[in-house]
Amino acid sequence: MRVLGIETSCDETGIALYDSERGLLADALFSQIDLHRVYGGVVPELASRDHVKRLVPLMREVFAKAGLQPGEVDAVAYTAGPGLVGALLVGGACARALAFAWGVPALGVHHMEGHLLAPMLEETPPAFPFVALLVSGGHTQLVRVDGIGEYELLGESLDDAAGEAFDKTAKLMGLPYPGGPEIARLAEQGRPGTFVFPRPMTDRPGLTFSFSGLKTAVLTAWQACAEQGEPDAQTLADIALGFETAVVETLTIKCRRALKQTGLKRLVIAGGVSANRRLRQQLEAMTAELNGNVFYARPAYCTDNGAMIAYAGCQRLLAGQQDEGGIETRARWPMEQLPPIALKA
Ligand code: ATP
Ligand code: MG
Ligand code: FE
Repeated sequence: MRVLGIETSCDETGIALYDSERGLLADALFSQIDLHRVYGGVVPELASRDHVKRLVPLMREVFAKAGLQPGEVDAVAYTAGPGLVGALLVGGACARALAFAWGVPALGVHHMEGHLLAPMLEETPPAFPFVALLVSGGHTQLVRVDGIGEYELLGESLDDAAGEAFDKTAKLMGLPYPGGPEIARLAEQGRPGTFVFPRPMTDRPGLTFSFSGLKTAVLTAWQACAEQGEPDAQTLADIALGFETAVVETLTIKCRRALKQTGLKRLVIAGGVSANRRLRQQLEAMTAELNGNVFYARPAYCTDNGAMIAYAGCQRLLAGQQDEGGIETRARWPMEQLPPIALKA
């Protein structure tokens, strides 16, 4: 089955063609980062308008890359939520219109299921069951995954998501949006131990996260430095490293707990923050100690992309799922509400 995937949940227009027999055929992405950077974050209305502009050229590009004529697909999958409603509607309307014109089914895909399954596109995909750490701009969740659509939420953030903490901390340090890659880059020059920030909620049992206090701790340190004049590049790097280390250690402690609690050996990390090098290294070391393994996607498939939506959509379409006539979009949509993939008789 060949599926066109369309991702427009936030500030990336992602398009891909996935074939269940041959794998990923082509994908293309347009990131609106430069458009939103001047505002320090995503402006929803601008995002929707830009998706309108990018969709058709990107689609032409992927069909051409795959050596296919537009419409040579068996189905269209699109991100139905969670995300910005206006942005989702653009992708959803486009997907439904194309599916109608081409006479093929359409399916609305859960954005976080897309992230979760992105590591399946790599050479050594994880086998079920596993523990997944979803760490993105809007989510920080630990999930027990027994199959596609078989999700048990083990813990999540009470306040900011991990990616959001990176973005907000970067902003208060005067760094551009998105903050994750900026902080990671600066941290490379940081001197370990110069700034030590708290590891929130690690001193009590459980798998709940909280990152807003960490951001405040950085703000306090930042203001103390700023009182002595403009912080220099080394101070910036030291704070970045202190912050990144605190987030990575906190995530690692909780992942270890989740593996112990479930008795599972495989850990999957997904979402934009899973592109973080320090996080990958720490989780490699931690899972190796437990005789386990960690799986993740290449950096381009950690952040938003069309490939993960084409892939996730394809798995569900193969199992016979498809939308009724309307455009499904949901700003909020708990992943546990998804149906399991029914095994075909
Ligand atoms: P959601 O998927 O929850 O709806 P989103 O789609 O905005 O949110 P993603 O695209 O998965 O989130 O990821 C973007 C986030 O990842 C941003 O917060 C960004 O700062 C963060 N990020 C990207 N690269 C890195 C990195 N190398 N280190 C840390 N954070 C990173
Ligand atoms: Mg984005
Ligand atoms: Fe995302």
